[in-house]
Amino acid sequence: MPYSKVMPIKLIETCGAPQEFGEPVIIRSALNFTGVLPDVLHRPMLDLRISVTDRCNLRCTYCMPREIFDKNHVFLPRPELLSLEEIARAAAIFVRSGIRKIRITGGEPLLRRGIEKLIEKLSSLRTLNGEMVEIAMTTNGVLLSAKAQALKEAGLSRITVSLDGLNEAIFRRMSDSNVSVRTVLEGIEAAQRVGLSPIKVNMVVKRGVNDGEIIPMAEYFRNTGIILRFVEYMDVGSTNGWVMDEVVPAQEVVDLISARYPLVAVDANCKGEVASRWVYADGAGEIGQIASVTQVFCHECTRIRLSTDGKLYTCLFAEQSDTDLRALMRQECSDETISRAIANCWQKRTDRYSEIRHEAQQFPRNKIEMSYIGG
Ligand code: SAM
Ligand code: SF4
Ligand code: SF4
Repeated sequence: MPYSKVMPIKLIETCGAPQEFGEPVIIRSALNFTGVLPDVLHRPMLDLRISVTDRCNLRCTYCMPREIFDKNHVFLPRPELLSLEEIARAAAIFVRSGIRKIRITGGEPLLRRGIEKLIEKLSSLRTLNGEMVEIAMTTNGVLLSAKAQALKEAGLSRITVSLDGLNEAIFRRMSDSNVSVRTVLEGIEAAQRVGLSPIKVNMVVKRGVNDGEIIPMAEYFRNTGIILRFVEYMDVGSTNGWVMDEVVPAQEVVDLISARYPLVAVDANCKGEVASRWVYADGAGEIGQIASVTQVFCHECTRIRLSTDGKLYTCLFAEQSDTDLRALMRQECSDETISRAIANCWQKRTDRYSEIRHEAQQFPRNKIEMSYIGG
């Protein structure tokens, strides 16, 4: 449902002891009449991304280049990670502040011990309108065949699997690992078997590296019900050596596929959906484009991110955070205090990095790595 059509909610003012999944705690002044929290540019806070680990079993060159994320790299020590209970508590407070969709990500989320238990807790959350909160996950799929059944049983709503090509050598070059394509495909098949659908597959396209895989990937996923999404290579973090020349614009991908298999554009499913959608004219399914470099969508960005150690970030390209939910939770602050901190953080949000990327390139930033704040 578009956020502008959400019915007004009953606002409740409350305070006191931390509550796990109790009554809604809403700061009356923070929510607008539609029950959503607007930022400075009037964008509602609707989607929460949680990075459950900063570790990964791959070293994709565009995300965690091995030269930086090598054996000397210091990952967050365990006590610094939010515990599963802390994540669940924060998520519940977010949902009471208007969040409708939670994506579990990382790093590689399937590396986090007890991830199924977390999904189970999150799947009991209800939105302010009493609807189920959509719980999604983005994974590299390496451990998915072993975990798909448990994730489904825990209540995961949907899954996105990242896969940058079918050719073994190219996949290994992109992921800088010895993992085989077959392992990821088996994970996708397992997800399909247990009914974690509709499954999406994300393919980051880097010019001169895996752009030759666009057509083979499109052909492989046609007629499978799986939605293949082409992701423009982004300048996230500060270590991937991004240059514009390596970005393959989404339109180029659409033109390439359409020349062989004609495509028809379709409307977005909902407000804030970042992918533009296309269907094959012959009925063979759907593809998507995430064109965060060439067709920016900051004006409808409704996402907030909770980092592995509990900090809030209001943009994928952020440099810092001034809101530390872990500190608040470990100081035994009330849900109301945490709710207020979330509201303060979102209400002062002015981020629109992709719209000003060109200027930003002239004044390089020290951007936070994607694996830590969640892709
Ligand atoms: N490890 C999981 C995975 O790869 O699916 C989840 C975390 S990963 C950071 C989330 C998504 O971000 C993946 O689909 C990945 O391909 C994408 N990603 C990472 N770095 C990127 C970049 N520089 N440009 C575009 N997408 C990127
Ligand atoms: Fe790991 Fe995902 Fe980043 Fe690849 S994109 S290095 S799989 S976190
Ligand atoms: Fe959202 Fe920041 Fe990306 Fe713009 S650049 S779409 S504000 S995360």
